[in-house]
Amino acid sequence: MKTAFITGITGQDGAYLAKLLLSKGYEVHGGVRRISHPETTRLDLLGITRDIHLHEFDLGEPNNIFRTIRDLKPDEFYNLAAQSFVGSSWDLPAYTADVDGMAVVRILDTLRTVSPETRFYQASTSEMFGLVQEVPQRETTRLYPRSPYGVAKVYGHYITMNYRESFGMHASSGILFNHESPLRGKEFVTRKITLGLAAIARGGNAAVELGNMDSKRDWGFAGDYVDGMWRMLQQDEPDDYVLATGVTTTIRDFFTYAAEALDMNLDWVGEGEQETAIDRKSGRLVMKVNPKFYRPAEVELLIGDATKARNALGWEAQTSVRDLAAMMAKADFDAQAA
Ligand code: NDP
Ligand code: GDP
Repeated sequence: MKTAFITGITGQDGAYLAKLLLSKGYEVHGGVRRISHPETTRLDLLGITRDIHLHEFDLGEPNNIFRTIRDLKPDEFYNLAAQSFVGSSWDLPAYTADVDGMAVVRILDTLRTVSPETRFYQASTSEMFGLVQEVPQRETTRLYPRSPYGVAKVYGHYITMNYRESFGMHASSGILFNHESPLRGKEFVTRKITLGLAAIARGGNAAVELGNMDSKRDWGFAGDYVDGMWRMLQQDEPDDYVLATGVTTTIRDFFTYAAEALDMNLDWVGEGEQETAIDRKSGRLVMKVNPKFYRPAEVELLIGDATKARNALGWEAQTSVRDLAAMMAKADFDAQAA
């Protein structure tokens, strides 16, 4: 039986990855932060909390990382934990640098010292492309991060490459484009949209307030993407791979897809800060722009080229953005029935 350790197991990807690894017969361990009230909602929703081994674990604490790895020496180590919200990274820039950047070298150096045979996965991100230097973005595209989050992740990405090249470690980075699900954090735009629209469909009257409606993202389903992470660690040689759908969509179009799944038909009125969306049937205002959600620097366009992953890993995104929006909107609508 293989063993795996997942940092960030209580997050969206951690929960899906844990479920996938359990289905493959792994013994799954994961790190949870000490907080005043244990939070395993996502693991509970997938029905796997009792099947995994949870360890107190914080990326900020070097000795804690050291002891965990020394005691477990897992076959595979997936580093998914992060301060993952771009918007907060301007308020928490030093913390984000530590958790999303420095912690990666703490883990790698511990692995190198006490468990060099462990295979390592680093959760890199399309946010590293930022002000994109090439369309679509692939593994070789020059990085130009646009947020403290993106900058911290660039460090994590390069230090992973460096430990692979310096010490021959089986260390791989997945450059994942945005991936969402009903378990997505509520502050991300997709989930904010589906939660808000579900509340309106249930009779609520608070319009969803959003920022930049024109930015474009390459959105896939998290359940598909964790399979790509696992495939990376099954390769004989470590490497870096983009996982993406190759389709890019505006925030406005994602909103429209989610609304359609809840039987709304929208009229879009106005532009910029004046833009609104109105449901034709009920005449209700369902979206208005609030400039407080604009970012100090924006990533306007992301679209990935996952050819390398398709050829080397046999991986392909399975879920269209329309189906993803519908899946999330319906899940939030159903959850609000109670
Ligand atoms: P989430 O925000 O859902 O999960 C983040 C996890 O990290 C949570 O389990 C959180 O714990 C944990 N965590 C945060 N800070 C610490 C810390 N100091 N010590 C230990 N654990 C900590 O993120 P996702 O699941 O969406 O993303 C997984 C990874 O993939 C992240 O690294 C993210 O940056 C990256 N990524 C995500 C993309 C996406 O679209 N989802 C795209 C590309 C990369 P707690 O539950 O206690 O908060
Ligand atoms: P990100 O790609 O990791 O930053 O994922 P997000 O879901 O947080 O943001 C995706 C895009 O949606 C960015 O271009 C945001 O500027 C844009 N956006 C527009 N309105 C909002 C909003 O209200 N909340 C969030 N989170 N993003 C918004």
